[in-house]
Amino acid sequence: MITIKSPREIEIMARAGRIVAETLLLLRAEVRPGMSTEDMDQIAEAFIRSHPGATPSFKGLYGFPKTLCTSINEEIVHGIPSHARVLREGSIVSVDVGVYLEGLHADSATTIPVGEVSPEAARLLQVTKRCLVAGVAQASHGNYVGDIGHAVQQVAEAAGFGVVRELVGHGIGSEFHEEPQIPNFGAPKRGRRLLDGMTVAIEPMITAGSPVTKTLGDKWTVVTADGSLSAHFENTVAITRDGPRILTTV
Ligand code: MG
Ligand code: MG
Repeated sequence: MITIKSPREIEIMARAGRIVAETLLLLRAEVRPGMSTEDMDQIAEAFIRSHPGATPSFKGLYGFPKTLCTSINEEIVHGIPSHARVLREGSIVSVDVGVYLEGLHADSATTIPVGEVSPEAARLLQVTKRCLVAGVAQASHGNYVGDIGHAVQQVAEAAGFGVVRELVGHGIGSEFHEEPQIPNFGAPKRGRRLLDGMTVAIEPMITAGSPVTKTLGDKWTVVTADGSLSAHFENTVAITRDGPRILTTV
């Protein structure tokens, strides 16, 4: 079911979204070679819980054990933070985080370079960020879900990169994952209509090589089947008559 949020609910989601955005900024400032993904998780959880009433959305969601998803290099999404996973110079780490506040969720992701990265990795990050911007720009009242996916796909494929098909964006609100699904591919004017008061997580997952995925033995971590790098950027956005409003921002 697609839920339409009241202005009051959207303001709560914007407050949750601000905590999400600040968490990602904090991690971007803290990330360095030698840090483990468990260190990142502890920083994020403490920061989120320092805000009265705010809790990490992911902890316990479908049984996920941590506050963050941390996905390094060929890992696309859903990597589990661990002391054993230490960031190396030249890696990229995708960080996904959600915050639950006063009955509503907000969800955002970014991919952070660890020290100096290769020109290919830097270009992947830049293009994936542009995919997100292009997708968000279509998130207006009266447009269609397909307009978002088409915009993302155009930017990614023009750059020679792959668009992951098996994982998609989603509606978000009192449930973390709501309808409609928001694929990162598609045709203009197809799929569900976007309406004032809908809130959606738009989240391109883009690969430097083939977009075919596989899931590791931990049952969570999704990686590129060919081992190529992957990046992930995400915002939670409110559809309004005045255009998209990004809720996961400072
Ligand atoms: Mg997310
Ligand atoms: Mg999401």
